[in-house]
Amino acid sequence: MEERISKALEIATDTKVFEMGPGASAVAPEVFGNLFPGRKAVVIADVNTWPVLGEKVFKLFRSAGIPVSEYVIDKKEFHAEWKYVEMLDAILDGDTAKARTIENDPQHVEADAETAFRNPSEDYPVAVSVGSGVINDLCKLSSYHHGQSYISLPTAASVDGYSSFGASISYRNSKQTFSCPAPVAIIADIDVIAAAPKEMTAAGYADLAAKIPAGAEWMIADLMGTEPIVPEAWHVLQDVLDSQLSDPEGVAAGNPKAVADLFEGLTLSGIAMQAARSSRPASCCDHLFSHILDMTGYRFNGKLQSHGFQVAIGTLTMCAVFDEFLKMDLSSLDVDKCAEAWPSLEEEQQRALGIFKDFPAPLLGYTEITKKYDDAATVRHQLETIRDSWPSFRDRLRAQVYSFDKMKARLKAASAPCDPSDIGLSRQDLRNMFPKVQLMRFRFNLLDLAKRGGFYDTLVDSVFAPGGPLEI
Ligand SMILES: [Zn+2]
Repeated sequence: MEERISKALEIATDTKVFEMGPGASAVAPEVFGNLFPGRKAVVIADVNTWPVLGEKVFKLFRSAGIPVSEYVIDKKEFHAEWKYVEMLDAILDGDTAKARTIENDPQHVEADAETAFRNPSEDYPVAVSVGSGVINDLCKLSSYHHGQSYISLPTAASVDGYSSFGASISYRNSKQTFSCPAPVAIIADIDVIAAAPKEMTAAGYADLAAKIPAGAEWMIADLMGTEPIVPEAWHVLQDVLDSQLSDPEGVAAGNPKAVADLFEGLTLSGIAMQAARSSRPASCCDHLFSHILDMTGYRFNGKLQSHGFQVAIGTLTMCAVFDEFLKMDLSSLDVDKCAEAWPSLEEEQQRALGIFKDFPAPLLGYTEITKKYDDAATVRHQLETIRDSWPSFRDRLRAQVYSFDKMKARLKAASAPCDPSDIGLSRQDLRNMFPKVQLMRFRFNLLDLAKRGGFYDTLVDSVFAPGGPLEI
């Protein structure tokens, strides 16, 4: 395993040190001292992660003679909102009183993201992130605002964001990925991570499982010529993915070896994103269902659902779509007819405005379709390509993607959601999300191909039809 990670670090652009194992947090002061000699540290944790690991790390730093302070976010549940980025920015400025004021102000007005950048200075403390995905993303973006890196000590195998390029933050009603480098060092203490709440580990399993359909959609985008596969980013993750997903029962039981394998898979996913400088290796439609739920503030039983739990349903749904798609015979596609029926950009923009008119970000579909619209000649060429590569390309997709039944069984065994009702969604709710999913990201996806080939309605209908995988 270590060999695999050290090889992966060769293509990582930001992360230089990865330590994983039981008790690995003990090396944190030494790693910090090597990477940030003479600098002050500030341990960032919340009320959950301070007793679990933050306090221990703080004491280790103090014993090692490193000047260290702490900031414990006084909340049990909080989300990656811009307000907390401003809070972290104040902490790294050294102004914890201001940070506390921002944290506790329910009326806080978000500042302009453009104004967040500071001049680099050796006087800023370096963040030592002790927590799960949200704390890590806040530290990632704020450290970037200060022109410096940071160290991450994850407390759960819940997401792939620890090692990824970019931070996913809600800013002005819209979930956005802000570009910023991954941490220079990740120290994964498996004693802590394996003891995390079971639903967090299950969420991480689902976030990793999403790379199965996401990989298949990247293969389609590659064939269509819109986003070519970046070989090193593909292989670092996809070559081991199936094996890293092979022990869902062990993941559910909190077995340290299974959780370590899961954490390694999530880390490799982040490294793939560093290598590609994009989230293409790690997500496609599987994640867009989750983004819709995030952007509409969706709650089930009064609670926001975790990233991984939402992604579990998106992933399962895309496996259902692939099941139906792979039954089709595209070798007899009538390309002339499809190219003639292809709408103009203006028609597509109007369609997008209609679909998103009641959404919190009403222009989202319009903006994204404008970026990814192809003219009829390009569409003709794309359809000829897929027609002429069928069925060999279909066989390659079949080898990549899991069937709906297999994915459902895996998610279930990992104690992750395996039916939309597990996160409070009806199958009709899910179906209603499809038009938005197709349009809400500039990336080419399977539904874009279905629109081009004139089989979008047939495909989506078959998923929810009597006898279909998500029969309504
Ligand atoms: Zn994810």
